[in-house]
Amino acid sequence: MSRFIVGLTGGIASGKSEVTRRFEALGITVADADVAAREVVAPGSPALERIRERFGDAVLLADGSLDRAQLRAHVFGNDEERRALEAITHPAIRARVRDICETAASPYAIAAIPLLAEAGGRTAYPWLDRIVVVDAPEAVRHARLIQRDDIDAALATRMIQAQASREQRLALADDVIVNDGQPEHLQPQVEALDRIYRQLAAARAP
Ligand code: ADP
Repeated sequence: MSRFIVGLTGGIASGKSEVTRRFEALGITVADADVAAREVVAPGSPALERIRERFGDAVLLADGSLDRAQLRAHVFGNDEERRALEAITHPAIRARVRDICETAASPYAIAAIPLLAEAGGRTAYPWLDRIVVVDAPEAVRHARLIQRDDIDAALATRMIQAQASREQRLALADDVIVNDGQPEHLQPQVEALDRIYRQLAAARAP
C-alpha cells in the first residue's frame, strides 16, 4: 500500500507520457486520470446513470455506453452544462485515481493528472504529498503536438491556449522535470526524483 502519492502534471505535449513510462519502468504504479475518466463512466457505473438522469438518453449509444462525441458537443461552449457534467465525473475520477494509488504495491505511487492546474490544483487534490511538473517551452510543445497528432499549427496553438499557462502550472510544482532536449535527458531526472520519492515514502511509513 502506497502512503506517498506524487501528482504529475504538465501541459499538452510536454512529455508526460514519456516521463510516466520511465517511472513505470522503475516499478512505480501510475494512475492516469485520463484512463480513470473513461472507466468511471463505463456501462453500469453510478456516474453513467447520473449522466443519463441529467442529460437524457440522447447521450447514450444503442449499446448503453456513453456517446462521448454527443455529450462533448452538448457541453461545448455551455459553462452551466459543462459544470453539471464535471460535478458528476470529477469526484468519481479523483476517487478512482486515489484508490489506485493507495492500493498500489509500489513504494510510492504517481497520480498523472494532465489538467491538475485547471481542475482545482491542490485544493481539489489535498491528498497529493508532492507535485511534479513536466515542463517544456511552448514553442517546443507546439512543434511536438503538430507532429504527434498530425494537426495544423493553428489548431495546436488553440489546444495549448485552452490550457492553463506554463506559469500557473509551475506555481504548483514542488519538483520540475525539464523536457526541452533529447528524451534521454529525462532519464537522470526521473531517477533522481525516484530516489527522493522512495526516501520520502520510507520516512512516511509507520
Ligand atoms: P504528453 O503526454 O504530455 O501530452 P507526450 O509524452 O505524448 O506528451 O509527448 C508529446 C510528443 O512529443 C510525443 O510524440 C513524444 O514522443 C514526443 N516527445 C516527448 N519528449 C520528447 C523529446 N524530449 N524530444 C523529442 N520528442 C519528444
